[in-house]
Amino acid sequence: MTTGFRAPKGTNDILPPYSRDWLWLTRYASGVFQRSGYEYVDTPMFEQTEVFERGVGAGSEVVGKQMYTFDDMGGRSLTLRPEGTAPVMRAVLEHALDRGPLPVKLYYVGPFFRQERPQKGRFRQFFQLGIEAIGSDDPSIDAEVIEISWRLLNELDVKPRLLLNSIGHQDPTCRGAYLATLVAWLEDRADQMAPADTYRITANPLRTFDSKEEKTIALMETAPVITDHLCAACTEHFAAVRSLLDEIGVVYELAPRLVRGLDYYTRTAFEFVSGRLGSQDALGGGGRYDGLSESLGGPALPGIGFALGVDRILLASTDRDWTEPGPPHIYAVALGDAARRDVFNLVTELRRAVVRAEFDVMNRGMKGQMKEADRSGARWAAIVGDDELAKGEVTLKDLKSGEQEGVGRSNLIRVLHERHGNEAEAVSPGPGHGR
Ligand code: AMP
Repeated sequence: MTTGFRAPKGTNDILPPYSRDWLWLTRYASGVFQRSGYEYVDTPMFEQTEVFERGVGAGSEVVGKQMYTFDDMGGRSLTLRPEGTAPVMRAVLEHALDRGPLPVKLYYVGPFFRQERPQKGRFRQFFQLGIEAIGSDDPSIDAEVIEISWRLLNELDVKPRLLLNSIGHQDPTCRGAYLATLVAWLEDRADQMAPADTYRITANPLRTFDSKEEKTIALMETAPVITDHLCAACTEHFAAVRSLLDEIGVVYELAPRLVRGLDYYTRTAFEFVSGRLGSQDALGGGGRYDGLSESLGGPALPGIGFALGVDRILLASTDRDWTEPGPPHIYAVALGDAARRDVFNLVTELRRAVVRAEFDVMNRGMKGQMKEADRSGARWAAIVGDDELAKGEVTLKDLKSGEQEGVGRSNLIRVLHERHGNEAEAVSPGPGHGR
């Protein structure tokens, strides 16, 4: 029976078995981030609206068109977070983490909210995995952040393409001069653009590169690119980042037309795309945001980070085999009332000894319980009837081979862990192994 209630448009319930992969992925990524010295951070789902207006920029599509903004009872304007970098920077500044050891290296996993038109791979609530390294403008931290995301996606077998660019810094000697050149070039060719895009020339000229309109895309192929107009310092920084990436074998494609959607980006910008995703082909991306702290009223504080879309990684990794090794898995089958009571004890005892143990609470007969044991994916069944109760043992059935034997209750935990351990040694699970 359905009630007529539906999850809000553009949101997803994360249900088993999909939720297994989801959970595995977020844990796996956490391990990758932690091994590079990043620590977990969790900021509120909503922030003062100004954090995004000033941080991300009112001219960006995300802030201008996609935010869930509301007034609370005190008349404060709040916004469900559309992205993670501005909130993390807000938290770093609020708690003066920038006055401690630098760089501050943090990672996050959580839901983000944008009022977009839902389609495959595009939702109104979606999940991101991200890292932020705040406090250093050294090219090696750019290379570190890019390598971590590149490695993670490759270990997950998503086979992404890495696009790399530098978009300079906001200064008349750098991006300022380039923008003037670009605007003049666009103004001369406004008639060759899709009419829906001409507003971008004055509103946010860089975003003309992001147009989805074929006419504009074709025009932008011949537009002047920022990498030909970078100042000496940005040119040198970009060269250093590329040389470090070359040294550690990170494969990238130079993408002089790559601009990122959020206004705070400076210098290094990168994006991962996948041919497996259709029109929403970005798995994630990131870049440097050296002006973000100041736009939030903080000191000069450089930073770089990335955000990857969890939903899209899962969409792109169709042939995944991410079963976690986990503990031994057993289903306890009870024959008769006395055995039912006993099986509840047995299951509790096994769980306390780190065995995954399940049993029937739907009053099924023997056949029904065996079926459930199979359905649960258990490796073994422990069958308990009057005979077993009298002898103080269980009949341990191997659900793969069908073999069964009596095992003393006091030995059961040891036997299960031993057999499970032998099997775990024989197969070594994990991403990328054997594929
Ligand atoms: P962005 O901060 O916009 O660059 O987003 C980083 C990544 O988050 C994107 O490449 C996507 O993988 C994911 N993402 C962004 N917006 C959405 C959305 N509306 N639905 C699903 N995933 C999204």
